[in-house]
Amino acid sequence: MWTLRKRLQFTDDEIKQLEVLLMEAKDEPKDTKFYQNLTTKINLASARTGKKALQWIQVRRWILNKKKHLLTKEKPNGSISDKLGENQPKVEFEAKSANDGGWYDVARFLSHRFNDHCQFECLIRYENFGTDEDEWVIVKEAVRRRSVPIDSDECYRVAVGDHVICFHEMESNACYFDAHVMEIQRKRHDIRGCRCRFLIRYDHDSVQETVSLERICCRP
Ligand SMILES: [Zn+2]
Repeated sequence: MWTLRKRLQFTDDEIKQLEVLLMEAKDEPKDTKFYQNLTTKINLASARTGKKALQWIQVRRWILNKKKHLLTKEKPNGSISDKLGENQPKVEFEAKSANDGGWYDVARFLSHRFNDHCQFECLIRYENFGTDEDEWVIVKEAVRRRSVPIDSDECYRVAVGDHVICFHEMESNACYFDAHVMEIQRKRHDIRGCRCRFLIRYDHDSVQETVSLERICCRP
């Protein structure tokens, strides 16, 4: 599936449209119908003419992961979560989905069992995802304490060689993947905060990318 990796193909207009629709619908239940209707609207937009139609599950995944990303970099006076009417999630664990290899916050542990290889598994409800995304994962391999976002003035905590998770957008998804820090360009901070640049390498495919601090979370 990694051969599909490339930048998400939402246009800027579509992203703006999504943000507006989400703000308008902040009190509506975010069920399957909601995302299907949203996707229909996005696909009808003229900017998508000639491109492959989006699927509602792609739209939902992208929105929920983007929201998590925005929440993790939220400042005390951040406006985005205020607009969304939500607070910083209190999550203690993250789990690795076998569907895409990304790490997602755990909302609840629903059940447990031993599989045929005597490995302890838990049924996970992912934060911001519904029941149809519940997943059995092997606890030893795919559950761990949640990674921690880094404040702008604490970027010195990130060092070359560190294990981190890095937010990565793809055509069909956007989520956090395991990565290691290869190189750091320390830069003078300004009013916007940390301007340092971090060269990271994703563990699963060895692809390297230079990213800003806000896309990285440290391992506790
Ligand atoms: Zn910095």
